[in-house]
Amino acid sequence: GQTLALKGLEKRYENAVAVDGVSLVIRAGEFLSVLGPSGSGKTTLLTMIAGFENPSSGQIMIGPQDVTFVAPNKRNIGMVFQRYALFPHLTVAANIAFPLRMRHMSESLIRPKVEAALAQVHLGDYGNRYPHQLSGGQQQRVAVARAIIFEPPVLLMDEPLGALDKKLRETLQLEIKGLQQRLGATVVYVTHDQEEAMTMSDRVAVVANGRLAQVGSPLELYRSP
Ligand code: ADP
Ligand code: ADP
Repeated sequence: GQTLALKGLEKRYENAVAVDGVSLVIRAGEFLSVLGPSGSGKTTLLTMIAGFENPSSGQIMIGPQDVTFVAPNKRNIGMVFQRYALFPHLTVAANIAFPLRMRHMSESLIRPKVEAALAQVHLGDYGNRYPHQLSGGQQQRVAVARAIIFEPPVLLMDEPLGALDKKLRETLQLEIKGLQQRLGATVVYVTHDQEEAMTMSDRVAVVANGRLAQVGSPLELYRSP
């Protein structure tokens, strides 16, 4: 993983300030959750880190590199969305292979990587299926496999388990945590589920109205009034 540093990040819209001066250093290999109610600016924050939106002001550093205005596909960031966002017309294998093909990796290297990724997310036999033939949990596993296939140093997840039932959520929490630790990836994990944030994270950043209200380890947050 690599250190992710946010410095005075702001996103202003005409009638709203979505992110209002967020400064935070997320250590290499750290699992940080961003916890807050709907409308508190979580998605906007993640979208700026991913590069899909430019900040109104502030700076984003990944390791030594200033990526504030670098194109999304040049940031070396993996991203998982709540609604999977798989390509419906591509097979599971082709979905997972997509980021490698974007990077012009040769087919002979892609195949073993896709095979390994399928095994890692317990979908060894599903490579030739299409997304609509999979359950919600399986689709989200594919989305996770696609996000980690190029071993990104930074992994962003926006409520990745929000659409799943509680039991499946708990299973996938463990799986995601395991994959993250094996990769050593720096993770920013958006959720509005306090329990999820507390069980998965090294630190939790609580946001309200676009600002950081509190940042600390689960234990520190639990103890504070
Ligand atoms: P969360 O992910 O915590 O639900 P968002 O980042 O989606 O919060 O939104 C934060 C605030 O910014 C909200 O008040 C939302 O209405 C506003 N907002 C988000 N995107 C836009 C946009 N494209 N134009 C105007 N306001 C927006
Ligand atoms: P396309 O028609 O776009 O080539 P495929 O699904 O045939 O889509 O293959 C996508 C990529 O995934 C290819 O690089 C291929 O080598 C790999 N691949 C295809 N099927 C499997 C599978 N069952 N297990 C592992 N890798 C696969």
